[in-house]
Amino acid sequence: MSKKQILLIHTGGTISMAQDQNSGAVSPTGENPMVSQTSAMNDYAKLLVEAPFTLPSPHITPEHMLEIKRLIEKYYLESGIDGVVITHGTDTLEETAYFLDLTVRLSIPIVLTGAMRSSNEIGSDGLYNLISSVRVACCDEAYGKGVLVVLNDEIHTAVNVTKTHASNVSTFQSPQYGPIGIVTKGGVMFHHTPKLDLKYTLTETNKKVAILKSYAGMDSRLFSSLPELDFDGVVVEALGQGNLPPGTVEGIRHLIQNNIPVVLVSRCFNGIAQDIYGYEGGGRNLKELGVIFSNGLNGQKARIKLMIGLAQSTDHTYISNMFK
Ligand code: ASP
Repeated sequence: MSKKQILLIHTGGTISMAQDQNSGAVSPTGENPMVSQTSAMNDYAKLLVEAPFTLPSPHITPEHMLEIKRLIEKYYLESGIDGVVITHGTDTLEETAYFLDLTVRLSIPIVLTGAMRSSNEIGSDGLYNLISSVRVACCDEAYGKGVLVVLNDEIHTAVNVTKTHASNVSTFQSPQYGPIGIVTKGGVMFHHTPKLDLKYTLTETNKKVAILKSYAGMDSRLFSSLPELDFDGVVVEALGQGNLPPGTVEGIRHLIQNNIPVVLVSRCFNGIAQDIYGYEGGGRNLKELGVIFSNGLNGQKARIKLMIGLAQSTDHTYISNMFK
């Protein structure tokens, strides 16, 4: 059987960095160490390699995400690729993964990976994760499963995965749901089929969406300042099941009156924000004001979705249907 053709896109991150033996600082090297390792994957696939930029992932913006999306679509049309693997810094990896999940209308496997230890550190996980990701991208069963994230022998969906630990190699987890498959020495195995979301058309990333985390005693000032700062929408990480301190209600009302959608997620790590409590600032009260409940997304994913949604329409019903 002929080998599958995989587009390998390097974008930077720890996987492309090395540690300075004297200072201990981890930073980009002149040449991406993963590029010189391309031949290690020749047994699995025929690779086409691109490196549109080399950035630590805190430097990644929605414009870079759009550039990756366009690169994938270009190669699909011009070279008939069978799958895509993207190396990416782990800090914002889940945001790029979810952006691509919502905007790339292709059923070929698209897999993101990274590393927690740079290329010359003891126990470096970069090359291992990269090879695992190429194996997943070559797997027939990976078709039609949405964008996937593969690290540390686990396969996660873009919608559920999140970085849970600052330094541990098993940092990527899908709270509540778990991985949908595993990578073993013997092969790639899927044990769940994910529910897929709709795809959205996106040609520009000019919508500004903020995330505000709630806390005991929070008031309205941060909310009220958003229209002046030209934000188009806001995601609020609410308390518990979806409640906010009463002092924020006035600010929330002000935003909704200014047609700035307010999407609510829970600041809890597990569970779904809902309109349960009837007191001032409780979920019921917020829903009546026009707050949109996010259906289980975390704050950073809800922000990506709201940004993409606002590029389609500013209609409140349209946006709120996206989060159902
Ligand atoms: N700070 C790094 C980045 O996101 C972390 C990593 O890649 O693991 O680029």
